[in-house]
Formats: sequence, C-alpha cells, structure tokens
Amino acid sequence: MTTPDDLHQLTAMDKQLLWHPYTSMSHPSPHYLVEHAEGCQITLASGEVLIDGMSSWWSVIHGYNHPYINAAMTQQLQSFSHVMFGGLTHKPAISLAQKLVAMTPASLQRVFFSDSGSVSVEVALKMAIQFWHTQGKPDKQHFATPRSGYHGDTFAAMSVCDPVNGMHSMFNQALTPQYFISPPPTGIDKEVDQHYLDEIRSLFESKHEQLAGFIIEPVVQNAGGMRFYNPAYLDALRSLCDEFNILLIFDEIATGFGRTGKLFATEHCQIEPDILCLGKALTGGYISMAATLTNDRVALGISQNGGVFMHGPTFMGNPLACSAANASLDLISEYDLEPKIQQIQQWLENALSICENLDMVDNVRCLGAIGVVELKSSVNLHEIQPLFVDQGVWIRPFGKLIYLMPPYVISQAEIHRLGSAIYHVIQQHFS
Ligand SMILES: *Cc1c(COP(=O)(O)O)cnc(C)c1O
Repeated sequence: MTTPDDLHQLTAMDKQLLWHPYTSMSHPSPHYLVEHAEGCQITLASGEVLIDGMSSWWSVIHGYNHPYINAAMTQQLQSFSHVMFGGLTHKPAISLAQKLVAMTPASLQRVFFSDSGSVSVEVALKMAIQFWHTQGKPDKQHFATPRSGYHGDTFAAMSVCDPVNGMHSMFNQALTPQYFISPPPTGIDKEVDQHYLDEIRSLFESKHEQLAGFIIEPVVQNAGGMRFYNPAYLDALRSLCDEFNILLIFDEIATGFGRTGKLFATEHCQIEPDILCLGKALTGGYISMAATLTNDRVALGISQNGGVFMHGPTFMGNPLACSAANASLDLISEYDLEPKIQQIQQWLENALSICENLDMVDNVRCLGAIGVVELKSSVNLHEIQPLFVDQGVWIRPFGKLIYLMPPYVISQAEIHRLGSAIYHVIQQHFS
C-alpha cells in the first residue's frame, strides 16, 4: 500500500520528471497515481475506486487484469519474451497473423507487425508509396484525407491528421503537404450527399498523379471529433479510388475489434480497403502492438523485381505482445460479439439520455460501445477532471466532447453510474 507521505512524494516526482500526453512541463495538470486495476475498476493510491469509462484510450476491451490474458503472457514470458524478427520467427506471430487474416476482409492476406498505431500508419503510407514506385508511378507520393481525422503523432501520420487539431502550423515546414477534403457529413443514417462525392472526385481529377492513397477512419472519425458517418460514403470512395488509381487505406486503430458494433467498421460497408491499420485493442490493451494488413496486389507489387519493403522495427512481432493479442482474440471469439455490443449501445443510450435535457448539451449520440455527449462549448479539462474523480468515475473529455468507450465487460449498473456522473459533472462544471 502507498502511504499518504509516499503518495505525496511520488506525485511530486512525477510532476518534476515525467512528461504525460499533451502536457506542459512547467504547468502540468494533476495526474492520479494508480495502485491497481481490475475488471472495469481503477483503484487509486489515495484509495478511491473509479469506474472506467475510457478503456485506457479504447484499448482495454476485456477489462484490466484479465486472468486469461495474464496466463497467456506469463506462459510466453517463461518461454521467451523477445527475439529479433529478422531471420527468426515464432508461433505467437504466425498464429496471430492467421487469426487476423481470417477475421479481416478476405482480400487482406499479408501482415506487417509494428509497435504502435502511429507506426502502423507510417507503414501503410510507405507501402502505398513503394507500391506505386514499382508500378512506374514514382510521383504518387502524397495522400488525400478528410479533415477531422486522427492517425497518430509521428510525422507522416501527423501530416494526414486534421490540420487544425493536429497543430500543423507549428510543424509547417517539417510536414509533407497533403490534400484535405471536408470531413464526411455526420449522421450514420443520413442520406449520402452527392456534393461531397463530387468534392472528392474533383480533387482526384486534378491530383491523382500525385496521390498514392486515400486514408480514412471508417464510419467513425474518433479523436478528431467522434463523428459518425454513413458507411455508404466508403463504398463510393472505393469506386473513386479504383477509377483514379489511388489506394484506399482504412485506419481501424480505434474502430477495430468490435467498438462500432461490428468486429471491424469495414463490415458496415460492402467494400474492402487495400490497406488496413490495427492497434489499440489488438492486445486487449495489455501492451503496445499494431498491425498493417494488405492485399496480394500491394504486397506482391512491392516485392516484384527483387523489391523489399523498407521497414523493420527492432521489436517487430514481439512474442509477448503477440501472446496477449492471441489471447484477446480468443476472448473475442468466445463473446457473441454483435449482440453484446448492441446491448452496451442500448445501455449507453439509456444512461446518457438524461443529458439531452441539459442546456449545455448540443446532442447525445451512440454507436456500438461508443457514447458521446457533445456540449455547446469546450470544457476546461483541468477543472472538470477532478469532478469526475469525485464522482467515482474515470472519464477524460476533450474539447466539447464527453464520451464513453467502456470495456466490453462493463455492467448495466456501471454504465448507469458513468451516465449519471456525466450529468452531474456537466451541471457542476457549467454552474
Ligand atoms: C490512437 C490512434 C492512432 C495512433 O495510435 P498510437 O498507438 O497512439 O500511436 C492512429 N489512428 C487512430 C484512428 C487512432 O485512434
């Protein structure tokens, strides 16, 4: 146990030494010391127990400290935790690749493992550029993408993030200029707007000779605004990409593994992408790992005339991470996934509906295991975070969005606690 004195000292050390995501070193926001996490509960060193509404950035889908994943990783640890992937291979990676190609769209048959979501996006972009290079189109080195997207924090990934949220101005000279279109019109059931498709077509018409690919988060734009849109746009996008020789890249790092109600968001539409990025929930949120899948056309295209794909991270295919991912996928296959997520959506809709009546709330929307309360103005994270902790929940809003992406093992009662916490915190924060 952590004594109050220890807690005080550790928090001071943390503040002095450690950078946290998107924080200042001179004016850091408070960070809560975690003692333990189990199921849907995070226990702080101060003794408070918080219900988790975030799945630790949407990754811990089976809850914390899951005995099955723990056992799988322990077993792998006792065998070997890592070997280099150059010249060596191992069962956990082979087994994981088999599972991934079996569960993702049929044409995606080749797998590249990397360390994190951002890197899997870098890999996807490099695949697209290298593919066109071998096809005698070396000018195809740029990408098109909708605004309000988020694809990671490394340079190439950042270049396709929303230019405003992605703070492009700060990195202006360092980022490859890309081609942005409007974000897809919101509303999962809203009729397709032909003007939007015309906008894409006219960009493709003028720039296709420079465009290697189009990258998009299918069905939900996540960190860029929790925007849900009609999957029919993706079907139309596929035809446009085919017409203009542009590869279609789906970033399912956030939406993959059930979050939107289907195993992959791609299943909401009729088409398949050329390249697919997976991360976050891949290991059940246990350890960092990502994958980039592609089809034979791209993989064999890159490899023709003695070509090799130019990427190879030190910890590629890390066996311990693969063992966590294999165990997580076993657990998913044991769920009746779609009904399970549908049930969570219903619970979220019920629990969040009270928020619709608040003056400060613009709208409430749910899709799969995602529940969003969009406010009329932005929250002050510094002030609102402690209010959630006081309510006994872990929820971390951004901008105008207070959202829930709970672990799939959450109960109806816990979702209710999360919903009423949001209701009370909005009232307190804006009073
Ligand atoms: C989180 C996220 C990434 C980046 O993944 P990291 O593991 O943080 O590098 C990329 N794309 C999407 C859609 C994400 O949600």
